Amino acid sequence: SGHVRFEDVHFAYDPDREILKGIDLDIPAGATVAVVGPSGAGKSTLARLMYRFYDVTGGRITIDGQDIRDVTQSSLRGSIGIVPQDTVLFNDTIGYNIAYGREGATPDEIASAARGAAIAGFIQSLPDGFETRVGERGLKLSGGEKQRVAIARTLVKNPPILILDEATSALDSRTEADIQATLEAIEHGRTTIVIAHRLSTVVHADRIIVLESGRVAEQGTHAQLLRKN
Ligand code: ADP
Ligand code: ADP
Repeated sequence: SGHVRFEDVHFAYDPDREILKGIDLDIPAGATVAVVGPSGAGKSTLARLMYRFYDVTGGRITIDGQDIRDVTQSSLRGSIGIVPQDTVLFNDTIGYNIAYGREGATPDEIASAARGAAIAGFIQSLPDGFETRVGERGLKLSGGEKQRVAIARTLVKNPPILILDEATSALDSRTEADIQATLEAIEHGRTTIVIAHRLSTVVHADRIIVLESGRVAEQGTHAQLLRKN
């Protein structure tokens, strides 16, 4: 599961200014697709529509053939995990932050959820290692470490579809590349949509979609796009 389609999707925040002007996308289940393009192109808007922060004003979005407007909000939010650019963490342990959202989780459940994410490869690389940091309070984490925790928090819910909305864009390119490499190593079988502004960090995506002024300007593999430009 996790086959996403956009069929002639239009969207406007204000009736007199269309932001998405007829988007067609077919993202096979399990594929990793990157959406790149200049600021203001509509990349975040695309992500917000999938999560139904807003509804399309024309066309439709389907997941596994079902219009997302016909899916309950809780089922939709169970299918899609979103990692935003700026994550706010609780001044608590890594374990608590990862299990956040699991209401009533016991400390043991929190530890095991965090361990699951660590096995997935996400926080092993934190300084001093996962085992010693998971229960520690008052953490001083760098931007990259925070985003690792944010991604782990989303992966713990095991959503079939993962959207990274510029989740690593604010980081230096080395840290960004490290995190993308971890993702590539673990994200087999999960539909992953990476919104990015640097083409260089999405080299391994199955397909890259270039969005410009609310339209798909081109799409292809990294190599195909380089050949064209
Ligand atoms: P990107 O992610 O590619 O930078 P966005 O999807 O954030 O682009 O924004 C696309 C356009 O929609 C921009 O012109 C932006 O100013 C506008 N926009 C974004 N959010 C809102 C909003 N809540 N209300 C009105 N306009 C918005
Ligand atoms: P991003 O591209 O990362 O989404 P933006 O700067 O476009 O960041 O948007 C930041 C916030 O401001 C978002 O919540 C967005 O919905 C809102 N926003 C952006 N542009 C507008 C706009 N023209 N009018 C109203 N809200 C906007």
